Amino acid sequence: MKIVLLGAPGAGKGSQAVKIVEHYKIPHISTGDAFRDNIARGTQIGVYAKSFMDKGQLVPDDVVVKIVAERLSKDDCKRGFLLDGFPRTINQAVELDKITGIDVALNLTADPEIVMKRLTGRRSCKCGALYHIATYDKETCEKCGGTLYIRDDDKPETIKKRLDIYAQTIDPILEFYEAKGVLITLNGDRTVAEVFEDVRRILDDID
Ligand code: AMP
Repeated sequence: MKIVLLGAPGAGKGSQAVKIVEHYKIPHISTGDAFRDNIARGTQIGVYAKSFMDKGQLVPDDVVVKIVAERLSKDDCKRGFLLDGFPRTINQAVELDKITGIDVALNLTADPEIVMKRLTGRRSCKCGALYHIATYDKETCEKCGGTLYIRDDDKPETIKKRLDIYAQTIDPILEFYEAKGVLITLNGDRTVAEVFEDVRRILDDID
């Protein structure tokens, strides 16, 4: 099961990704997580990526594609994988297609106002768990006990920039997957459980 998860920042990709990989036992490949991990470890890639991420800009394609290509070459991706936050440009989609085809591109739509509320109240854990201050008021993760943090790029002005870039880059990617007959669009303005019910129905059909 080879899945690509598309959607604006805050559309709920991360929350669905956690549920999908738990249910279908496939590796979760999040390019954003990969960069944050590199930043935490102080690698050269991390330092380079941070200079773009902090401004809400995309990291250049060659760096992102290399990371994804390396990860997809690992044995655990043979059965399938979930790509979260990749591709973000049409060039990345074309490069991915040279490496492997995919079974489905799930596109989560979301109202910009809802997205802004989700992202400004988001609290993240390094284990990948996500919380919102409206429904979770603790400072530590209930899964791993880690201290929750606000992502550097979850500041209102950076969020705006990320949303603008998304709007400018997504159409050709959607057209690319539509032409391949693998695009499925879902309304992401619902609870995580409601969206996942749809996601499961779709993925069960493919499996
Ligand atoms: P995310 O966690 O997916 O929201 O990604 C956080 C940030 O990492 C993005 O705003 C970009 O700066 C960078 N990033 C993640 N994935 C990509 C990608 N596929 N292409 C370019 N930049 C990316």
